[in-house]
Amino acid sequence: MSGARRISIFGATGSIGQNTIDLVARDADAYDVVALTGASNIKLLADDAKRLGAQVAVTAEEALLPDLRDALAGSGVEAAAGEAALLEAADRPADWIMSAIVGAAGLAPGFRALRHGTTLALANKESLVTAGPLLLAEATANGADILPVDSEHSAVFQGLVGEDIAAVERIIITASGGGLRDWPVEALANATPEDAGAHPNWDMGQRITIDSASMFNKAMELIETKEFFGIAPDRIETVIHPQSIVHALVGFCDGALMAHLGPPDMRHAIGYALYHPDRGHIPVARLDLAQIATLEFHAPCDIRYPALGLARQVMETGGAAGAIFNAAKETALDGFLARRIGFMDMSAIVEATLDAMSSKISLSNAPATLEEVLQTDQIARDTAWAAIEHHETRT
Ligand code: NDP
Repeated sequence: MSGARRISIFGATGSIGQNTIDLVARDADAYDVVALTGASNIKLLADDAKRLGAQVAVTAEEALLPDLRDALAGSGVEAAAGEAALLEAADRPADWIMSAIVGAAGLAPGFRALRHGTTLALANKESLVTAGPLLLAEATANGADILPVDSEHSAVFQGLVGEDIAAVERIIITASGGGLRDWPVEALANATPEDAGAHPNWDMGQRITIDSASMFNKAMELIETKEFFGIAPDRIETVIHPQSIVHALVGFCDGALMAHLGPPDMRHAIGYALYHPDRGHIPVARLDLAQIATLEFHAPCDIRYPALGLARQVMETGGAAGAIFNAAKETALDGFLARRIGFMDMSAIVEATLDAMSSKISLSNAPATLEEVLQTDQIARDTAWAAIEHHETRT
């Protein structure tokens, strides 16, 4: 459609992808949908691809290609599958791409889109944590923009509009404290995946909800903040804010602290990236401050949230530490979900993995290519599994 913006949504069947589609579908004539991608949820992928008139629908799972073809039969939407097809979809000319595949699988399509100068709306946290400098260099080399989609980073990004980054004294990222924030610290060791998988404010997938309870999610966000905004680690703070209304604050050298407030609804941050540099009408609830009445803030406890201390260590080290941290925390979460380790053991596994990896490689040396990032990721996962097995033999 002439004049329409060409957009693709990677991870279209997930929570961020569906929220993106919700916004796009409200103004469908404004968009020319190039590619939608998913993995296991073929019906949803095909239904959305047909509804939005996408050029191509891609599943990451090659074995599901026949199902996708069947579901798209007669619609005119192409079907494709596998890693190469994801890259081919990222090669298709587009003006804006949502990067919302979960995990390390989201890295390569994002890099590929940047190579073409496409604006990348970045939800995939792993991209910045594991390969931040490489990703930013790829964007700069190709004149591409990266727009943050995590609500905290979108809030900081909005707080910096028209500001000189040199005037920024500190950035404060808020944290809800997760589903276990009111549990006694001594009880946390016995928390089950079901206990940790319920979030008081945000409606998200199981893994990110558990990462929220352990604050590994916040740890990732602190590292993302350092990478994306180029702020020194000692200027990045986090504060517990149970209401999840203030998403982040930017402190300036004159003492001003600019806060971004909004309801806990990812469509705000997604919409900000979608309409950027303009602002569009986004159908999120409007805050009634008198009804909210109270906003609370308190300092996080290091014993309750050891992930925050590990994030500081990773930010100070730089280099390969982010890739190792991400791989180790994903593996530790797998171990917790499989009930092989306890809730508080996850941080011990990540720490043991960072220690063990430091005797194999120099952590502060940054991977030079995406392939090196993915190799480091695999070695760190193997090392983390070995740490989990060692833990099991001791308990
Ligand atoms: P979901 O698990 O809900 O969705 C993940 C998406 O990735 C789905 O489309 C899924 O397909 C697809 N997918 C899964 N595995 C693969 C693979 N190996 N290759 C290609 N595609 C795959 O995740 P979220 O939407 O919650 O999160 C997406 C990213 O955004 C994550 O990095 C997360 O940390 C980040 N994020 C999420 C927020 C949230 O509120 N949910 C907030 C901020 C950031 P299918 O479902 O068909 O199997």
